[in-house]
Amino acid sequence: MDSQATSADVVIIGGGMAGLAAATYLARDGMAVTLFEKSSNLGGRAASSNHDGYWFNRGIHALYGGGATEHVLKELGIPYHGGIPKTVHVLAEGKLHLFPDNPRSLVGSHLLDMRDKWELIRFFPALSRMKPKEWASVSVQEWLAQTFQRPKLRQLMAALARTNVYSAALDLVSAEVNIKKLQMAVKSTNLYLDGGWQTLIDGLAQAAEEAGARIVRGSRVEAVEHREDHVQGVRMRDGSLIHASAVILATGPQDACKLVDAGNYAPLRQTVDRIVPGHVACLDVALRRLPDPRYTIVQDLEKPRFFSVQSRYSDVAPRGGALVYAFKQLDPVHPSDPRQDERDLEDLLDTAQPGWRDVVVKRFYLPRIDGVSMLPTARDGGYASRPGPQVPGLTNLYLAGDWIGEGFLSDPSMGSARQVARLLLQDTSCSREKTVAAGLVR
Ligand SMILES: Cc1cc2nc3c(=O)[nH]c(=O)nc-3n(C[C@H](O)[C@H](O)[C@H](O)COP(=O)(O)OP(=O)(O)OC[C@H]3O[C@@H](n4cnc5c(N)ncnc54)[C@H](O)[C@@H]3O)c2cc1C
Repeated sequence: MDSQATSADVVIIGGGMAGLAAATYLARDGMAVTLFEKSSNLGGRAASSNHDGYWFNRGIHALYGGGATEHVLKELGIPYHGGIPKTVHVLAEGKLHLFPDNPRSLVGSHLLDMRDKWELIRFFPALSRMKPKEWASVSVQEWLAQTFQRPKLRQLMAALARTNVYSAALDLVSAEVNIKKLQMAVKSTNLYLDGGWQTLIDGLAQAAEEAGARIVRGSRVEAVEHREDHVQGVRMRDGSLIHASAVILATGPQDACKLVDAGNYAPLRQTVDRIVPGHVACLDVALRRLPDPRYTIVQDLEKPRFFSVQSRYSDVAPRGGALVYAFKQLDPVHPSDPRQDERDLEDLLDTAQPGWRDVVVKRFYLPRIDGVSMLPTARDGGYASRPGPQVPGLTNLYLAGDWIGEGFLSDPSMGSARQVARLLLQDTSCSREKTVAAGLVR
């Protein structure tokens, strides 16, 4: 760490999407920003790594159009390219069927009978009229039961919902999440990114540094120092104190709690203690070639499993090679055996891509990773129960991340980063105006 720097206007803890976006906004507005990332690499859960020319994300990642991520990246001018995934198949009773996501595949579908198809056709206009917030205290499971009469269609929509909400616990997750995601999917497209999500991380880091932010990699913050309700700065591992006028916690919830000594600080501890995480198991596999090019995206109807050949739609593998992501949505209340989860994912690949085991170049298995740090639950009223960007009772401490405010996956990370930056700039200009009015600055 640069021992010269002992103070900053703003210290940001965490160099994932949220921390880097906040650093860029604030540095562009002229603030002296220092960002600390404990790992030697930036990116957190959105980092990618290159192995033999294959760009591995940490599990399956798509950029969902129409959300805060897309908006913030555009606003900050971060460049990216990619391809739109299409042609989904459904695995039902050991057979692969084309997913009925357009009029032609719906007419030809052998998965659904005529009455199922009719109910699905009527669902879409109803979906566009639904107000997600009105369903915030209803679970996805109850919503499915109230919305679909036909058992096969309900089963198909449940499979889709598990993939949408990154959880097998449809009895817990708020229907608000699933309705909102379905509405966004109808209006916008998703993108698999060329070069993986590292392109976003590199673009954000470059933008932040060009604007003057100081990014310190491999430097863990030990604690946020506060006296009564006012934050003084952060304490580093070597015991040194970096003074700051404001601190942004852009970490996951557990780390945030530790950093503010939440044992003594009840409101944050209470929120974090109630968190239901969206854990997933991911099997990421690089192949010399794709055994069966017909099946590039498969949704399992019966089990909480999904896979996608991202290299089919984006530039993430060497010519002829394939990068495949399989993931299983877990149930946070009923933990499963990680080895069995891995076998389930291998078994899905055996079914859709037989022979894949003979052409493996590299594989990673992530048995438990937070796809979503805090699932909005029906019990707690959906997104409304998530914390906002300000920490009650602690002035000049702010929160950004995928568990702050509305939206799903990286959208709240990026949305809260922008919101925190705005709040901070507002607060700074207010306090400056007050100081000027008091005749302290000319
Ligand atoms: C398997 C999987 C699939 C996903 N799929 C998608 C998808 O398809 N679309 C999508 O939009 N999103 C997806 N996401 C979610 C997306 O990756 C995250 O929402 C986003 O990366 C979170 O960014 P963040 O900055 O909020 O948090 P993080 O990435 O968790 O970053 C927090 C950072 O803080 C650092 N840190 C923690 N404590 C300290 C400390 N004391 N000192 C210094 N640094 C510290 C950590 O090292 C980390 O780098 C997926 C996530 C996973 C895991």
